[in-house]
Amino acid sequence: MPILHTAASRPYDIAIGPGLLKEAGERSRLVNPKGTRVLLVSDSNVAPLYADKVANSYAAAGYRVTRFVFPAGEESKRLSTVAALYERLAADGLTRSDLIAALGGGVTGDMAGFAAATWLRGIDFVGLPTSLLAQVDSSVGGKTGVDIPEGKNLVGAFWPPRLVLADTEALSTLPPAVLSDGMAEVIKAACIKDAAFFSWLGERDALSPENRPETVARAVDIKRRVVEADEREAGERRLLNFGHTLGHALEAHSQFRLSHGRAVAAGMILVTRAAERKGLTVPGTADKIAFLLRRYGLPDGDETPPAQYLSHAALDKKRTGDTLSLVLLHTIGEGYVHPIPVDSLPAFTADSHVK
Ligand code: NAD
Ligand code: ZN
Repeated sequence: MPILHTAASRPYDIAIGPGLLKEAGERSRLVNPKGTRVLLVSDSNVAPLYADKVANSYAAAGYRVTRFVFPAGEESKRLSTVAALYERLAADGLTRSDLIAALGGGVTGDMAGFAAATWLRGIDFVGLPTSLLAQVDSSVGGKTGVDIPEGKNLVGAFWPPRLVLADTEALSTLPPAVLSDGMAEVIKAACIKDAAFFSWLGERDALSPENRPETVARAVDIKRRVVEADEREAGERRLLNFGHTLGHALEAHSQFRLSHGRAVAAGMILVTRAAERKGLTVPGTADKIAFLLRRYGLPDGDETPPAQYLSHAALDKKRTGDTLSLVLLHTIGEGYVHPIPVDSLPAFTADSHVK
């Protein structure tokens, strides 16, 4: 079973493989020796499937377990849910030595992590990611937070977990559309850093039960390396934003009817096509990415003229003043940051929707 070690400001292990949820208690005990209580945070889809198994495991490791279950969905990732979570923490009497465990997708992890970062100015946090996106992306890197009406993820904190357990068996109950959505981030990771992994993904079904642990581990390893190089997003970490500038704009333009993974898939193609036309990317790169995206049920572009949605790119957090850090590929496996003035984004992307 792969165990990856991160050398963040507070180091932690990420274990990946089938059956890890039932070991949550004993493994958490090793990083949280003094805790007596754990609050298990989960959503209304995931809790019925896995919360009993996880709660039993914590009880067996000597914890008193209580639960906070909220309605599944991004709409729950807001301050009012966190306020209810604080009430639960207070009622259950969690102290500085106790533990919050996040069992679920990225919404659960971001919100439970934010509560852990702020409750008593910070208590131990364990990530038990159950969606592919959460296993390969949101549970790694220490970013936590919530949405406010003005925008997604505008309120948050850096709060690395003490431990992450990615149980690849849990992916079996994910709706197929949510699973393929997570593949967009896996393909993104391969695009920016790892040509061998990119080929590997094209040669087999990376989502079959026997291949899942390697798929998750290789994607996590890329994110881990990028984040370690740059924990607070000054340079290298920006590479993770490949496909996201146009992707976020498309997502917002669709009023979030287009899922994040599908929008990022399209965004990777659009920006790469534009870059090829300007001689900034080796020709044929967009076609290679498109082949892989189609293999995993993701869109290989978008026909909306960028002029219709680019206004949504202006609020992008990754912007510094009037310059946008666009992420491009020299070729597969070699991402780089290409700063451009915000004003020139329309010209840069003008024909990217045309094949
Ligand atoms: P999510 O948590 O809403 O999960 C997606 C859906 O899958 C939900 O309906 C959930 O109930 C369901 N689900 C999860 N695991 C399941 C399982 N094993 N079986 C059945 N159903 C399951 O969303 P997500 O796609 O996991 O994550 C998206 C969130 O992650 C966004 O809020 C985004 O902002 C955040 N995010 C954070 C970071 C970070 O660095 N912190 C990075 C990327 C994304
Ligand atoms: Zn993303």
